[in-house]
Amino acid sequence: FPSQMAEARPILQKIEDAGYEAFFVGGAVRDMILGDTIHDVDIASSAFPQEIKMIFENTVDTGIQHGTVMVLDHHIGYEVTTFRTESTYTDYRRPDEVTFVRSLSEDLKRRDFTINALALKANGEVVDLFDGLTDLKNGLIRAVGNPEERFNEDALRIMRAIRFSAQLDFAIENQTKTALTDLAPNLTKIAVERIQVEFEKMLLSPAASRGLQQALDSHLLAYLPGGVGHWPLTTWQEILTILNRLQISQAAIAWINLLVPSPVKEQDIASFLREWKLSRAVIKTAQALVPILRGKVSLDAWHLYQVEAYQEQLIEGMHSLGFTKDKIELVQQIFEQLPIRNARQMALSGQELMQSGVVKPGPEMGKLLQHLEKAVVTGEIPNQQAALLAYVRQEKRND
Ligand code: ATP
Ligand code: MG
Repeated sequence: FPSQMAEARPILQKIEDAGYEAFFVGGAVRDMILGDTIHDVDIASSAFPQEIKMIFENTVDTGIQHGTVMVLDHHIGYEVTTFRTESTYTDYRRPDEVTFVRSLSEDLKRRDFTINALALKANGEVVDLFDGLTDLKNGLIRAVGNPEERFNEDALRIMRAIRFSAQLDFAIENQTKTALTDLAPNLTKIAVERIQVEFEKMLLSPAASRGLQQALDSHLLAYLPGGVGHWPLTTWQEILTILNRLQISQAAIAWINLLVPSPVKEQDIASFLREWKLSRAVIKTAQALVPILRGKVSLDAWHLYQVEAYQEQLIEGMHSLGFTKDKIELVQQIFEQLPIRNARQMALSGQELMQSGVVKPGPEMGKLLQHLEKAVVTGEIPNQQAALLAYVRQEKRND
């Protein structure tokens, strides 16, 4: 057992000792068998929430209506979820009700893919009802049961199939692929936030281009936000090349890499990203960096100074977009040699300029300060108060 599971094993044991069944389930089992790092350990049990609360002293009701109780053990929280079935999906997105059941097989049956429907007992025994181990070995994403029905129940699974394909570098089994292609129109019924999460995870995956290729093959981009279905094939080809270059680490870069070769105009970046329900931080970063990465702005001290706060993202973006080593080094050098990083580092503040009596407060002063800032950034004047005041006096005389 990997360490996180070894630490959680006494929890399974304690539930078993109380006369119930308990298993590790979901992604942790899959990732353990693949030898990948495990994120969160999920536990499923035949015990009902109230029963779990009787077994353990410290619990928190994190999602009790869905059957989830958090068990606290040495300050670590473990989610224990009662075996459940989800019945009648009428809106393609969430079950109308969850029913607690005592059988593991009922619980595994409702899971999305065979590789996510494995269960592991405290004694190390793996329960594999749908040949998930074979699919893991062969690198296949296959729906549990009838793929049409499963995607019809919950269209988010379409995005999840593609995301797992990218994360694990797996193929999508043929019938599963046909079904997700047929049911892609149901994606418009899913909350954008949830689509965004899966799409972003795909872009940040080791095999991101494989995921995107699946999305292209299944014609599902037409049902995603922001009008990406209208982007020309040449844009997507460029994006595939970008994704093949290197795995990126930051969400903002993922979106920037999509935008740079796209037909989205600079003034429409914010509204595009807002349609995808992205955060203000991502929007600001993209607005600052896309014009630079499109080559519309010269890479000089003044322009780079204005995106100083996004320096790290700019460098990663340049790498993923295939800028030459020389260009990247040049930009890094300019950043390192900037005399100031922001306006607060100016040796002459607006307050001080006013007190000097050289200029009167007003719009003229704002302009003058900006002019000074630029002169400092480009190295025209040293960032020293006396030098700055002398420069201002000189300018006044020239007026
Ligand atoms: P990750 O590494 O992203 O956490 P995961 O497989 O653990 O991957 P989660 O979203 O954490 O994915 O879900 C945990 C488990 O719950 C899945 O492995 C799967 O068995 C089940 N599951 C999650 N979402 C769905 C869904 N939409 N439909 C069916 N089963 C699902
Ligand atoms: Mg998980």
